[in-house]
Amino acid sequence: MDTLILHGTIVTGDARRRIIADGGLAIQGERIVAVGKADEVRRQFPQLPAMDAQGKAVLPGFVNIHTHTVLTGLRGLVEDSDLAVVYTYMTPITFVMSADERSALAALGCLEAIRSGTTTLVDPLRHVATYAQAMADSGLRLFLSESCADALTLQIRHGSYEYSRAWGEEFLERAIALVETWHMRDGGRVQCHIAAHAPDNCSPWMLERLLELAQKYGLRRTVHLAQSQQEVVQVRKLHGGTPVEYLRDHRFLGPDLIAAHCLFCTPEDVTILAESGVHLAHCPASNSRRGWAGGAPMPLMLDSGVNVALGTDNMSEDMFEAMRIGIILNRGKRGNGVDPMPADMLDWATRNGARALGLEQDLGSLEPGQKADLVIVNLRRPHLVPTINLASNLVHYGQASDMETVMVDGKLVMKDGKVLTMSEEDVLRHAQEATLSAWRRLHQQYPDIPLPAGFPGAS
Ligand SMILES: [Zn+2]
Repeated sequence: MDTLILHGTIVTGDARRRIIADGGLAIQGERIVAVGKADEVRRQFPQLPAMDAQGKAVLPGFVNIHTHTVLTGLRGLVEDSDLAVVYTYMTPITFVMSADERSALAALGCLEAIRSGTTTLVDPLRHVATYAQAMADSGLRLFLSESCADALTLQIRHGSYEYSRAWGEEFLERAIALVETWHMRDGGRVQCHIAAHAPDNCSPWMLERLLELAQKYGLRRTVHLAQSQQEVVQVRKLHGGTPVEYLRDHRFLGPDLIAAHCLFCTPEDVTILAESGVHLAHCPASNSRRGWAGGAPMPLMLDSGVNVALGTDNMSEDMFEAMRIGIILNRGKRGNGVDPMPADMLDWATRNGARALGLEQDLGSLEPGQKADLVIVNLRRPHLVPTINLASNLVHYGQASDMETVMVDGKLVMKDGKVLTMSEEDVLRHAQEATLSAWRRLHQQYPDIPLPAGFPGAS
């Protein structure tokens, strides 16, 4: 759309981290064409209609570089379980869900993402082509991938890893179909990645196939890396090194790779990651919930120069929560109250994510030439007043409900608190129904998987 946004406080997120009071921003088509003081921007574009942002802040939209929207169907059900939830619940339920159930939950995740100010989601999972349409309909910028494995992931909960080419081939076929159908759809708003699920469930054969696909289609890649002790043990047993060393030895690391978590890494692993230019998808909220964040070598990761960007991972799409738990967790590790600073957290949530996607020229800051992916935040809220140091207020106290307007690719997806791309009531109802039916089917199909505490009918 062609519009001005005037009289707001513009948090540019540019290299100088400029914040412009009584600022203005001009948008033409899908790009930002001017940023400055409101009266200057108005003079430059006298013909354009204007949105008034007085009492509001304008920020680059959040770039969530690691999430799984469909897993919102596990919300409130597995966070407090001591089981290995990835293989006990997350993997099996995504296989037994119907396309409609996946679509309903993906829409829920997108709705929550929009409401909390996210404009870009990086979302690897399984059977993605069956619900990609529901995500695309949300209007969000998307990087989708089929998260491939050739270990029989439905068997791992029984305590053994068995690798199968036929199983792996099915994943690869789904990955290819996804890329061929969805990459560069809607003018490039929807793109694809190539994803390996994790080092413990991908053999060297699978890693090799995925590298070939990434090269063939010219796509970036993503992986879960060193996310659990189970993974570390299995990789050491099979390949004799750490998960990071295993990926390095099979040429899987590189500046085109986003690695999620990297919790159980040695100092040598961190050096390898830094030297190979891997981008870290740091997921402080989900890691902390599992009690796993304590061991993560975050200070070393940051001091080594690894690009750190933020993800929400499971059962939440709230980047405010990721920033808040991220700053608390990382200050706890440093043992001080100044490192990282709120401006760093905003970088992790925006421009560092854009860098991880190789799209710094398009996303992550409000500057002329960038895509118009932005959010407008209401500052006239009791928890945001007094408003003096805006970055500090937003990171320490900001809430998803402060978000009023969200624009992606120059198109409004939420305006004045109303989501324009979906019927919110329908999404909530369908997601509730999909969760109940998917869990019931999971338990019917695999009676050994216990229904979580609190689920209707659970013992
Ligand atoms: Zn994940």
